[in-house]
Amino acid sequence: MAKSSKAADLMRAKEDALRQSEAGVKSLRETLHLQENQLTEATTELDKLRATISKDPRKNWVSATIQTTNEHGLPEPLFEALRDKRRGYKPYSLSVTDMLKGPLQVQIERRFRHRLSEDAMDGVWRLLGNAIHYVVEQSVRDIPPEFRHYETEMDVEGDVLGWALRGRLDLLDKLTGTLWDFKTMSAVGVKIRGGLQDDHIGQLNIYAHLLRGMGWTPTGLKVCGILRDWDKFEQFRDWRYPKTPIIVMDAPLWDSAECEEYVRDAMRYHQWAADQELVHIPICTPEQRWRDWPVFSVVRKGATRATRLLDTELEAYEFINDEIREEDRGEYHVIRREGKDKKCLAYCLASQFCPHAKLLREANKKGAKDDAGPPVC
Ligand code: SF4
Repeated sequence: MAKSSKAADLMRAKEDALRQSEAGVKSLRETLHLQENQLTEATTELDKLRATISKDPRKNWVSATIQTTNEHGLPEPLFEALRDKRRGYKPYSLSVTDMLKGPLQVQIERRFRHRLSEDAMDGVWRLLGNAIHYVVEQSVRDIPPEFRHYETEMDVEGDVLGWALRGRLDLLDKLTGTLWDFKTMSAVGVKIRGGLQDDHIGQLNIYAHLLRGMGWTPTGLKVCGILRDWDKFEQFRDWRYPKTPIIVMDAPLWDSAECEEYVRDAMRYHQWAADQELVHIPICTPEQRWRDWPVFSVVRKGATRATRLLDTELEAYEFINDEIREEDRGEYHVIRREGKDKKCLAYCLASQFCPHAKLLREANKKGAKDDAGPPVC
């Protein structure tokens, strides 16, 4: 009797344990079901998000960073600071900087981005520019908020013919409506060509155009040139040499119709180029290629170096007449030296795949001994 009662207790205990396990399994199933539902909802949301993004291709980054070499063995932190960290580009969009480049350069940089490379040393002026922007930004932050009427590193954006146009303005004085752009420049370049260039004017007016679209009213444009190679003593030797290491220049502000026309024309050209084979895209303009004007050198017979370089032929002959002794004048003659496409030969990243730069390189190889330099293209 006692034995059968024990067996019955054991059976009941087992049945209880089974019931509990079944309840546990049921509860787990419910939790799993709930989580499955949540997962389905999350997946649907994700799909919706993906669909939205792919419908707006401007949001899709084409990512490819430029390869950077460290040929001169720079320490890693400096190498990192010099490296071009731009992640890529967004299709159907253009940066203000790209708008000012030739469409050929932009298309090569986009289509061959994964194969482009530069040495860390090439990033030195970019680093200097970034450092200046950073310091100015910090200085603005130090101004008490009640007196702070500057906006630095301001993102500006607008829609032009269906493409996004984006840029980052160095400094906006919100009190006066003045736009500032900081540029590192060469003092020698300022002496020869002057400080304010057409692309500075174009760039600031594009910003002005975008700011108008964002509800601002720009009233003035200024370029602040920081001269990286300024020499205090040089100013006493040449009246054209800048007198200070920082120069401030006023750029003309175009009216909104003029800005609009400029921006739309440039955008149209870039949009056209995006659909073309590279061989059909015209080479960059002389200004975009940083083309030097021809110079006229006064050379003595048998000499390898010019006695003097002058801007015009007339000036060169005047120099011979005015500065050379009469009995020696027959020894001198004037040679026209064609200008160089400096950017194509030394500064353009796209030159690695540019047909024009290839021609220049080949011409340079052939005519290495030719004093006249590369041909005019
Ligand atoms: S190498 Fe010269 S022509 Fe070619 S993309 Fe660069 S700037 Fe333009």
